Amino acid sequence: MTKELFLKDSYQTMCNANILSIEGDKVILDQTIFYPTGGGQECDTGTLIQEGEVFDVFQVKRESGKIIHFVKNAERLILGEVTAEIDWERRRGLMRHHSLLHVLGAVVNKKYGALCTGNKIYPHRARIDFNRLQDLTEDQYDEIVIETNQIIQEGHPIKYQLISRSEAETRPGLVKTAVNLLPPTVTEIRLVNIESIDEQACGGTHVANTKEIGEMRLVKVSSKGKNNKRLEVALV
Ligand SMILES: [Zn+2]
Repeated sequence: MTKELFLKDSYQTMCNANILSIEGDKVILDQTIFYPTGGGQECDTGTLIQEGEVFDVFQVKRESGKIIHFVKNAERLILGEVTAEIDWERRRGLMRHHSLLHVLGAVVNKKYGALCTGNKIYPHRARIDFNRLQDLTEDQYDEIVIETNQIIQEGHPIKYQLISRSEAETRPGLVKTAVNLLPPTVTEIRLVNIESIDEQACGGTHVANTKEIGEMRLVKVSSKGKNNKRLEVALV
């Protein structure tokens, strides 16, 4: 099992690790700062450095529960010590857009009761799908954007907490995150809490304070079937 350092500290950009296996271009480490694509969030990219030689990590995925780093020229790596470093600009974009979706989701949920059914987070844009969101006017969408930006500017701390599944199931605020859809094997839940705004189960990487998100704009709204809406957003 690879220790997932990104779950505790999303600001850590470098770590030492041991290569446990190399198969073709697939490399497994004993611990990593690379976030694997999942939960709507794109993976990190970056480098592995071994004995002065720099290797590109161009893709990171979870396969059968294992975190696989896809590495260029991996055949030149050997088992043992390596230094891992992520592309911080890319990660920071992913963090800011991911935290933005949590704030936006909370605003839309509070105003219209709609639930988030999916999302996709890239370094420079993101999208979020809502169910049960009626047709809104342009003014109503403007209000959503203004309110979201207001909350961002208020500077709410964002914190992580691990709780047991049974505790998660009793927290009323978590209803919108569908905890009960997780497989029974999941016994521990990671909560992402935006102070006084939002709390939900999430394994993504976030900024430490909403102020770091910046200012959002709504790029596009499209309908996905009856009462389902997709909002495409980006940071200014
Ligand atoms: Zn999330």
